[in-house]
Amino acid sequence: METTKCLIIGSGPAGYTAAIYASRADLKPIVYQGMEPGGQLTTTTEIDNFPGYPEGVEGPKMMEDLQKQAGRFGADIRWGMVSEVDTAQRPFLVKIDDGTELLAETVIIATGATAKYLGLESEQKFKGGGVSACATCDGFFYKGKDVAVVGGGDTAAEEATYLANLCRKVYLIHRRDQLRASKAMQNKVLNTTNIEVLWNHEVKEIVGVEQGFTKALDGAVLVNNKTGEEKKIDIDGFFLAIGHKPNTTLFFGKLDMDETGYLITKPDSTATNIPGIFAAGDVQDKHYRQAITAAGTGAMAAIEAERFLG
Ligand code: NDP
Repeated sequence: METTKCLIIGSGPAGYTAAIYASRADLKPIVYQGMEPGGQLTTTTEIDNFPGYPEGVEGPKMMEDLQKQAGRFGADIRWGMVSEVDTAQRPFLVKIDDGTELLAETVIIATGATAKYLGLESEQKFKGGGVSACATCDGFFYKGKDVAVVGGGDTAAEEATYLANLCRKVYLIHRRDQLRASKAMQNKVLNTTNIEVLWNHEVKEIVGVEQGFTKALDGAVLVNNKTGEEKKIDIDGFFLAIGHKPNTTLFFGKLDMDETGYLITKPDSTATNIPGIFAAGDVQDKHYRQAITAAGTGAMAAIEAERFLG
């Protein structure tokens, strides 16, 4: 069976940076890219806060660069999903979804996080047919139309301003009377004339018509949580921006996690509770969730894997 000194699961900034460091340390890492090669940044447009790109860079381009850089030092980057890691034995027995198995002396988990949904039945019904969790992927379909974004953080503010450039009107639905987003993003939202913030509103239902496989959203029913008053807004697109959940189902019952599923790493380290298994990026970071911090912990994980192997 194939054995690797270092298996990296995930291909966002954390996974690829771990791959750059691990390959330069001659660990000959194997990277499994997972369901979304390049990770969440492949669904963003301009990234202006990653050092080294004075003019900004498109998300997919940055991920392509990181992949190339990891490949340049010999990282073995593969398509496919890891379906199981046996953490009870070392080397760890790893199963891939195509049926392949391999042994890994160390594992770096960089599986990232996925957008959260509100949990409404109607939201699932119109997913991909009016409901989306990625404005930069799907905004184009709503050119000149009215849309809504739900959430009050930086993602919601960014998505709302992005959509405001394309759409006629953007409602920003927020459950409180204050945005969580950074001051700069708040100012951007509040100074964009075609964004209307609906403060203290929650989404009760998403409404539309379904005909066979065709779905068309035509509105959302909102409740004002201060007055109890209900109202319907007419929209063609509904965008979720209420945060993310870590992709850790593979490790339920195997690695220590917090109550929301974020992997717990030792202080000042990427080490999990199992020696030889490290976690980097959004899968273990609920505070910063930046490309640069993910890349930083990716580098830490590779250095720690190298030291672990001795
Ligand atoms: P956040 O967790 O910061 O914000 C989530 C927002 O969604 C909050 O306003 C929250 O409301 C609201 N929310 C959560 N659950 C629900 C629900 N069930 N119903 C209604 N509203 C809900 O997530 P983000 O994705 O916005 O940001 C994550 C991190 O990434 C942050 O650290 C952010 O700064 C960073 N980020 C940075 C960017 C940049 O620097 N360019 C761009 C995007 C993100 P409430 O406020 O009431 O809790």
